Amino acid sequence: MSRTPEKTPPTTAASDNENIAVGDNTTLKDRIASQIRRAGPISVDNFMAACLGDARAGYYQHGDPFGVTGDFITSPEISGLFGEMCGLYLAHMFELAGQPQNTVIAELGPGRGTLMRDMRSVWETLMPALACRPIHLVETSLALRRAQAALIAANGSAATTPEIHWHFSCDDLPDAPIFGIANEFFDALAVAQFVWRGSGVQGSWHHRLIGLKGVEFGFVDGPALSRAELADYSGTLPPEPKDGDVAEFCGAGDQVIAMLASRISQNGGAMLIIDYGRDGTAGDSLQAVAEHRPVNVFHQPGTADLSHWVDFAALSRSAATHGCRLIGPVPQGRFLMRIGLAQRAEQAALHCEGKTRRNLLAAVDRLTSPAQMGEVFKVALLLPQGVGLPPGFETDFPSGTSSDAGTDGSA
Ligand code: SAH
Repeated sequence: MSRTPEKTPPTTAASDNENIAVGDNTTLKDRIASQIRRAGPISVDNFMAACLGDARAGYYQHGDPFGVTGDFITSPEISGLFGEMCGLYLAHMFELAGQPQNTVIAELGPGRGTLMRDMRSVWETLMPALACRPIHLVETSLALRRAQAALIAANGSAATTPEIHWHFSCDDLPDAPIFGIANEFFDALAVAQFVWRGSGVQGSWHHRLIGLKGVEFGFVDGPALSRAELADYSGTLPPEPKDGDVAEFCGAGDQVIAMLASRISQNGGAMLIIDYGRDGTAGDSLQAVAEHRPVNVFHQPGTADLSHWVDFAALSRSAATHGCRLIGPVPQGRFLMRIGLAQRAEQAALHCEGKTRRNLLAAVDRLTSPAQMGEVFKVALLLPQGVGLPPGFETDFPSGTSSDAGTDGSA
């Protein structure tokens, strides 16, 4: 395995305020609080970026939050079938694109590296031309980079020992055809919030900030949005708001899509984007989870996972502005069933019995059932401009086959 030289990690996550990172042995909460005392309330996106990405105390910097013993479980950690199906899908896209010679593989926010390992294992058998392409991982956490290095390299065959490059930002992805994936990456990018005050023509949108109420953090209203800001966020701000309504805009997500779309529109490629969210704004969706339970968003900064619901409509606007189309989103359960998860699971179930078989079927149910991850999680595909809908995104479905059926978990 080869690695690009380590670049210097950002002191904090991208949009963060430098002052938050300055300090000695104080906690992240103390550092944020002293910044607020010194310079006034901070924006929600700066707070979120510090909690997740602070170089010393950020949530993703100090260990492995995934799995039963961590704070949350993601689809690739539920079953290897998830990675297999995504790998098959990208192999199909690669084939449709004519298997471009200088293709690179990309993953944004690879966590433990499980998804990339499982996709590569499919490629090694069915699409060796993809298995031998360089892998570019966008990951800010040095701890998780080490986990990814160990897992992905350990599972490459001698013939396809992976060449892995890590980047702190999507801007550093190479100028080449990119085939890749981002699962639960966009929800971890810092989101800004706005709050509507007043009513009718007397009302106005304000920045929603975080200040101090005694020694605890609390939301406070900031300045009204300027004319230019109102224009920038017009796609995100809902019409006819009521006093106290909250809207969100993820500037970091907008920029990531802009960068990917510029590359893909020029060089070709395809990116699967999977996350929980909506095809539009979700109001106040900021949430915190620790040890599989929801906690207050101000709960011990740096120790809980903060995330927000991805606004796929906003990502789609950014893609279109930069020469690509974002197809979807469609619910994850429907997508996986349409691309053949049930058949693949049936096949796998033939080779196991008892508890292993029950676990396999339970995992498929968890990934696809609307009551679990099948509906709230959505799948979208970033492609160059073109016509027609690729598999999994069709709006109609041939009779006699199941479209949404099967998302009941019957594998
Ligand atoms: N895709 C994985 C992990 C999702 S958790 C899975 O499905 O299991 C979010 C991942 O994104 C983590 O690897 C985290 O370290 C990374 N991450 C979060 N914010 C990031 C940022 N601003 N830039 C790059 N990576 C980031």
